[in-house]
Amino acid sequence: ESKLLVKREGDFHYPICFEEDFSNLAQAMLGEGLSDRKICIVTDSNVGPLYEEAVKKALSEVSAEISVFTFEAGEKSKNLDTVSALYQTLISNGLDRKSLLVALGGGVVGDLTGFGAATYLRGIDFIQVPTTLLAQVDSSVGGKTGVDFQQYKNMVGAFHQPRLVYMNLNTLTTLPDEQFACGMGEILKTGLICDGDFFRFVCREQKEIKSLNMKLIATMVRRCCEIKAGVVERDPKEQGERALLNLGHTVGHAVEKLKNLSLLHGQCVAAGLVAAAYLSMKRGLLTEQEYQEIRKGCEDYDLPVHVDGLIPEEVLAATKKDKKMEQGHIKFILMDGIGKSFIDKTVKDEELLSCIQEIT
Ligand code: NAD
Ligand code: ZN
Repeated sequence: ESKLLVKREGDFHYPICFEEDFSNLAQAMLGEGLSDRKICIVTDSNVGPLYEEAVKKALSEVSAEISVFTFEAGEKSKNLDTVSALYQTLISNGLDRKSLLVALGGGVVGDLTGFGAATYLRGIDFIQVPTTLLAQVDSSVGGKTGVDFQQYKNMVGAFHQPRLVYMNLNTLTTLPDEQFACGMGEILKTGLICDGDFFRFVCREQKEIKSLNMKLIATMVRRCCEIKAGVVERDPKEQGERALLNLGHTVGHAVEKLKNLSLLHGQCVAAGLVAAAYLSMKRGLLTEQEYQEIRKGCEDYDLPVHVDGLIPEEVLAATKKDKKMEQGHIKFILMDGIGKSFIDKTVKDEELLSCIQEIT
C-alpha cells in the first residue's frame, strides 16, 4: 500500500502518499475533493528551480489557476515578513476561502505555508509536498505550523492539519548528503522511541538506504510516518505522549543554540540521542551494548556523536533554559531498552552534566 490514512479531526482523515514521481498527485487531490480551486504553490529558491515545473504540470490537471510564491531558502526566511509577503501574493492573485496552498519543499516551506494557510482568511486548506527526508518523516506529519520570531524558534504558530501529504521520494536524489543525514537523525530517534525492530532494520540496511534504494526508503519513510501519526493522533496538542518525540532534543536543542552556524538540527539531535542514551545507561536502563549500538547507528549515518568546542556547563545552562521545562523540572526523555522510552522529570543537574560531558 502506497498510502497511509491519518486522522485529522472528528471522523476526517487525510492520506499520506508515498510515490516516486508526481504523476499521481492530481488523482490524489481529486480523491480528496481538492480539484477546481485556485492554487498557490509555496516553495523556496532551491526547490523551486528543481520541481516547480513538474508540480505545476501535475496540478494543471485539477486547477486552471496556479500561482507560485518563492522565497529565499533557509531558516532565516521562516518569519512573519515572509508570511506577510505570502499574504500579499495571495491577495494579488485573488485567493479566496476555497483556495489551496501547496507547500513544496522542506520543513521551512511546510511550516511557513501551513501557518499562512492557518491564518489567511481565518484558515484555508493546504497540502504538503515534502522534499527533504526530515520533512517527509517529521515536519509534514502532525499539524504543527509556524514561524520564528526575533531570536525565538517556532514562537508563533498554529495547529493546522494538511488535507493531503504527497511525497515524491525521488526528490531525495537531489538532497545534499548532510540534509539526508539530518532526516536519518529523526528516523533513528523515532525507532528508539517505540520500535526497536524498526531501529535495527534502519541500522542494518544502512548501506542500501544511503544509496537510496527506493524500496527500502519507502518502507522506512512509511513506518516513520505511521509511528509519528500514531503518537500525534493519540496526543495532538502535546499534553502527554507526544513529548516522547522530543527524545534527544533536550540536549540537542542546547547544542543547536550554541553551535548555531556550524551544525544542522538533525546533527544536534543525534548528539542529543547519544546523551540521552548515556544517561539511560547510567541509570541502568540501557546496557553498555545497547548504548554502543545507538552510537554506531548515528555514526553509520554520518551523524556526530561528539561535538567539539563546547563547554559542558554552558550546554547545561542552555538545556535548562529550554522551553520544555515544567515547574522547574526538566522534562527529559529516557530510554528503557531500544524502542522503549518514557518521560522523566527527576533528572538532576549532575546527571545532565555527565551526559553532556560524554558528547563534548
Ligand atoms: P529546509 O526546509 O530548510 O530544507 C533544507 C535545505 O534543503 C534547504 O536549503 C532547501 O532549500 C533544500 N532542499 C529541500 N528539498 C530539496 C531537494 N529535494 N533537493 C535539494 N535541496 C533541497 O529544512 P528541513 O530540514 O527540511 O526542515 C527544518 C525545519 O522544519 C525547521 O524550521 C524546523 O523547525 C521545522 N520542523 C518542523 C516540525 C513540525 O512538526 N512542524 C518538525 C521538525 C522540524
Ligand atoms: Zn527534530
